[in-house]
Amino acid sequence: MKMPDPDQTIIEAKSDIVAALRVIVPGEGVIVDEDELRVYESDGLTAYKQLPLIVVLPETTEQVSRILKCCQERGVKVVPRGAGTSLSGGALPLADGIILGLGKFNRVMDIDFDNRCAVVQPGVTNLGITKAVESEGFYYAPDPSSQIACTIGGNVAENSGGVHCLKYGLTTNNLLGLEMVLMDGTVLRIGGKHLDSEGYDLLGLMTGSEGLLGVVTEVTVRLLKKPETARALLLGFETAEQAGDTVAAIIAAGIIPGGMEMMDRPAIHAAEDFVHAGYPLNVDALLIVELDGPQAEVDYLIKEVSGIAEQHGAVTSRISENEEERLSFWAGRKAAFPAVGRISPDYYCMDGTIPRAQLPLVLRRMREMSEKYGLRVANVFHAGDGNLHPLILYDANKPGELEAAEDFGSDILKLCVEVGGVLTGEHGVGVEKRDLMGAMFSEIDLKQQQRVKCAFDPEALLNPGKVFPQLHRCAELGRMHISGGKMPFPDLPRF
Ligand SMILES: Cc1cc2nc3c(=O)[nH]c(=O)nc-3n(C[C@H](O)[C@H](O)[C@H](O)COP(=O)(O)OP(=O)(O)OC[C@H]3O[C@@H](n4cnc5c(N)ncnc54)[C@H](O)[C@@H]3O)c2cc1C
Repeated sequence: MKMPDPDQTIIEAKSDIVAALRVIVPGEGVIVDEDELRVYESDGLTAYKQLPLIVVLPETTEQVSRILKCCQERGVKVVPRGAGTSLSGGALPLADGIILGLGKFNRVMDIDFDNRCAVVQPGVTNLGITKAVESEGFYYAPDPSSQIACTIGGNVAENSGGVHCLKYGLTTNNLLGLEMVLMDGTVLRIGGKHLDSEGYDLLGLMTGSEGLLGVVTEVTVRLLKKPETARALLLGFETAEQAGDTVAAIIAAGIIPGGMEMMDRPAIHAAEDFVHAGYPLNVDALLIVELDGPQAEVDYLIKEVSGIAEQHGAVTSRISENEEERLSFWAGRKAAFPAVGRISPDYYCMDGTIPRAQLPLVLRRMREMSEKYGLRVANVFHAGDGNLHPLILYDANKPGELEAAEDFGSDILKLCVEVGGVLTGEHGVGVEKRDLMGAMFSEIDLKQQQRVKCAFDPEALLNPGKVFPQLHRCAELGRMHISGGKMPFPDLPRF
């Protein structure tokens, strides 16, 4: 994995840059000590590490604006960072760039139950939003498994999802407004407490922009009323095909469960050994289907889903009779990643999306790949959304295994595209899938996307080296800003 070559002139100018940043953020908000920088050297994709040049921890939008302007004037690259849980290397630092940490933006600014929304700073954790409103029976719906740690700013940048996104939508469906700072220091407000804005859907554009278009400094999110009740079914199948067909039949019947998750045999065993959730061990596929809403509706849907599962060959079926039991069904699924961490020194978590009907084929081809690479794979799957999370097990201490895991992972993602799916479901492209973008997008598609990037960050200073396999000059794409007569990224291959 290659990042843009570091600009030595920027590295040599470090003390000047530090002095300029300390004028903007006095006190301990500018970090240069190597031990302290090390905390930021990686994100959730720990296979890649790089010490940043400097870390800056602003507390106000005005400071963010001045920092970005200062960096733009000096040609310094900037990597925004929330909690650093990205699994695609989105927050991976650059040797000649600053990390702009948003951790101090941690206030819930306004809770507006009448308008069913909350205005929060980007460093508030995903779960922190729900905690702030749950006493009144409300919650924030998108629920990534990392919700205890990841920030809403990171969620916006990655368009994060979770178990309940099948029914309640991803981050993009639960946002109303943003405040963002562009690389030249401009503060931009998009949307607000109102529904639907006129003009282009800039809110949609910014969601999932992976820190390449601007820095999020405020977020207005929708709040939902907690469903009256929720019950879950735990359904075991002898084959993944049967489980896949059940998923398709549930959706085809017009039922949208609150969550519909699938695990394969290795994931079931790892989770059961870890948390003893009571999962059946004699099945090849397990479905957890949650129905939520008014009691009468849930009771009716539970019967419907049970019937569909039976018709498709479910060999085990349990229905949660109380809240404790419902949570125990989920305990294994929620602990699946750490559970797999117990059976392998390292694992590589992939994230691709496929049309639901292709699941049996994809699982079969994955088993073949597993034999080819000599690496085991456990599958956890947002079944309703077609979002796969294969966990490739490897040992980084064994020469060649990391590379084999990466090749295996890239073959899986190419397969997702081949069967009509996409490279990512919710973890973003970052550095992890950057070089695979050509498998999904044509050169014309990529250039068009980069024209959008140029409109916001013409000198490609915001999070470069991520998402795009190759940077084009903005001039070729229609516009270019030259600062101080210097060509941005002179070392980059151009064509
Ligand atoms: C155990 C585990 C489980 C996970 N489960 C899920 C899951 O179920 N669903 C899911 O979607 N993801 C999941 N993730 C991935 C990750 O938690 C999400 O991508 C999350 O949104 C990242 O948030 P963060 O605050 O950690 O952002 P970071 O990792 O700090 O940054 C992620 C990206 O966002 C950018 N960014 C961060 N803050 C800002 C900002 N304020 N303005 C502009 N850009 C910004 C960064 O530059 C980077 O590109 C999981 C991760 C782990 C480690």
